Amino acid sequence: MDLRVAGIVKESVVDGPGFRYVVFAQGCTHGCKGCHNPDTHDLNGGYTIKTDDVVADILSQAHIDGVTFSGGEPFLQPEAFTLIGEKLKEKNIHIVCYSGFTFETLLASSNEKVKRLLGMTDMLIDGPYMEEYKDLSLTYRGSRNQRIVDVHASLDAEQAVLEKLYREAS
Ligand code: SF4
Repeated sequence: MDLRVAGIVKESVVDGPGFRYVVFAQGCTHGCKGCHNPDTHDLNGGYTIKTDDVVADILSQAHIDGVTFSGGEPFLQPEAFTLIGEKLKEKNIHIVCYSGFTFETLLASSNEKVKRLLGMTDMLIDGPYMEEYKDLSLTYRGSRNQRIVDVHASLDAEQAVLEKLYREAS
């Protein structure tokens, strides 16, 4: 299946724990004021790549600690990211997903593909970028309203549970 991406970074240390393979989704409708990645907004921009090719490239990387889906907005392409995520979970690979939607909005979605993508995400960095809450000292986030959500604990609790390691920094 085709996935529309803005780009791929094969080794990042700023998009989640450890060394991460990062897939930047193309397309975002949140329109956050002060967004640092306006080139990723156009739903028809970027380029397409086959999900199987993304998976093969990820699995060929020997030194990564996990994979991050960033953007743009990954949850606008839930089917393609779910296809990739399912293959990664077969190998027990840790998945971080960024979203301008909150955990609560994703959880309440009537789109089963959105729920499947949420369910295979280990760590969700959620919420829109809000310029008034900009804070350069935050781990993995740009503004203080954004959270680092432990998705599995949150699904069990049916409410957002923050990742233990980063609670103090929130
Ligand atoms: S969700 Fe992210 S990519 Fe989309 S407008 Fe907001 S900051 Fe930019």
